[in-house]
Amino acid sequence: MAIQPVYDRAFDEDVDDHEPELTSERSCEECHGRLRTRDGETACTECGLLIREYRLDHRPAPFYEDDDKQPRTGAPLSPTLHDYGLTTEIGYRKDAAGNTLPVRKRRQLTRLRRHHSNARWGTTANKNLGRGFSEIGRLTTALEMPGTIREQACTILRAAQREDLFSGRSIDALAPASVYAALRCLGLPWTLPELAGDACCDVSAARQSYNVLNREIELPTRPVRPKAFIPRFASALDVPARVRRRAGELVEQAAQDGLTMGSKPSGVAAGALYLAARKTGVSLTQVEIAETTSVTPVTLRRHYKRLAEAEVESS
Ligand SMILES: [Zn+2]
Repeated sequence: MAIQPVYDRAFDEDVDDHEPELTSERSCEECHGRLRTRDGETACTECGLLIREYRLDHRPAPFYEDDDKQPRTGAPLSPTLHDYGLTTEIGYRKDAAGNTLPVRKRRQLTRLRRHHSNARWGTTANKNLGRGFSEIGRLTTALEMPGTIREQACTILRAAQREDLFSGRSIDALAPASVYAALRCLGLPWTLPELAGDACCDVSAARQSYNVLNREIELPTRPVRPKAFIPRFASALDVPARVRRRAGELVEQAAQDGLTMGSKPSGVAAGALYLAARKTGVSLTQVEIAETTSVTPVTLRRHYKRLAEAEVESS
C-alpha cells in the first residue's frame, strides 16, 4: 500500500515567498534579478518577467447547491436544441482514433443510428419543436443576428409549446413570431415586415402568431422608441452622418412635443429621415426609404408632414 502521496506537491499556492521549485532557473534570464513565487506565479522581482505560471486548481469540482449534487461536466446545455443537446451523436466511417471502420461495423452503426434517431426525436411534439428551432436558426442567420436572440427565440417557442399554442398554427409563422418576440423583449428596433422578408410566411400570419404569443405567454416586451430605428435605417440607406444626426434631433424634438405618442416608431423614424435628407440637401426618395425600411409610403408621408409642420411652428 502506498504511504507516500502519488503526486509530489511542488508548492502550496496559498503560501507566499516559496522557493521556485518548478523552475530550474534561480535568477531571471533577462536581468539576472531574484525570482519570487507568489500565488503560483514565478516572476522576477526586478523586471517583472513571468518565468512560470501554475494555475491548476487542485480543489474538488464544485457542485450546484440546489441541483442534487450534479457534477459540472460535459458540454453546456443549449436551448436551441429540442433535447438541450444531451443526446449522443453517432459518427460515420471512422472511430475515435481515426481508423477506418470495417464494412460490417459500419452497417451495424447505420442500424444503431436509425434506432438512436427514432429514440431521440420520439414524439411528434419534439419533431415540431426541432423544425421550429431550425427555422429560427435559419432566420437569425439570414438576418445576421447574434446567438443570444436565437436562444431567446427558441426559449419563447418552447414556452409556446408548453402553453399548447402549436395546435392549429403554422410553425413557419410561429418561428418568425418568436424571433420578433425575442427582439421586442430585448427592446431592439426591428419590424415584422423586415423579418417576414426572409421568413416562410406572410406578414399577417407572423403578426397573428406574435399577438397570440404576446397574449398567452405574457411577454415582457419593452417599448421601442423611434430614435432607436434611426441608426440602423440610416446605415441601410447609406446616408451621410449629417442626415442621421438631423433625423435624430427631429425625432427627439417630436418625442418631447408628444407627437410620437401612439404612432408606429418605425414610421416616425422613416419620416424623420426623409425630412432630414430634404433639409440637408441629400437626394433620397420616399420609395427608396419605404423599400429599405419596410414602412409604406403613405405612413412615411404622414409622419413626414407632421414633423415638417412641427418644425415650422417651433422655428
Ligand atoms: Zn528580470
